[in-house]
Amino acid sequence: MSGHSVYIGIGSNVGNKIDNCIKGIDEIGKIKGSKIIFVSSFYKTEPISNINQDWFINCVVKIETDLTPYFLLSDLQDIEKRLGRKRHIKNGPRTIDLDILLYDNLIVNEDRLKIPHPEIHKRRFVLEPLAEIDENLIHPIIKKSISLLLNKVGKEQKVEPLWNWIKPDILLLKVQ
Ligand code: AMP
Repeated sequence: MSGHSVYIGIGSNVGNKIDNCIKGIDEIGKIKGSKIIFVSSFYKTEPISNINQDWFINCVVKIETDLTPYFLLSDLQDIEKRLGRKRHIKNGPRTIDLDILLYDNLIVNEDRLKIPHPEIHKRRFVLEPLAEIDENLIHPIIKKSISLLLNKVGKEQKVEPLWNWIKPDILLLKVQ
């Protein structure tokens, strides 16, 4: 494994949200040529769009992978489909959302794939779990650390860690 370091954002606000995120992580753990290095805490987060919808559960997973960004994106989209995601409204409710946030220091700016994910620095629900994994990570375009970006992002975005949530064994087994 050549071991590219990749951070994947996970979110769900439809159905059993925690269960959806756990299933998403489990499926990510099965992607070939990849292994999970770290799973952040789960966070209950307020939707940022104007669409009237339920709160989200969000987390971030760090993996090491041999896959190129496009092959990884394709595997993540297959997982979204398998877990029942239907694409309706942009930024609307979703059973599961899997986004490539960072891939080494790579910058990709295509219609189908943008890395770093363009909204990272504006979203507390991404920055909090990312900082939990590595607050010294540098955003390859903005060239600032995740902790600095987190300090700058608006406090009005409500993001609450689920302190009472214990990582199920299935996740602990996958995290070395
Ligand atoms: P969304 O509905 O927000 O999950 O957006 C999905 C679309 O974003 C897909 O068509 C992807 O091809 C595209 N996309 C662009 N950059 C990324 C990224 N870094 N991770 C995941 N999807 C991406």
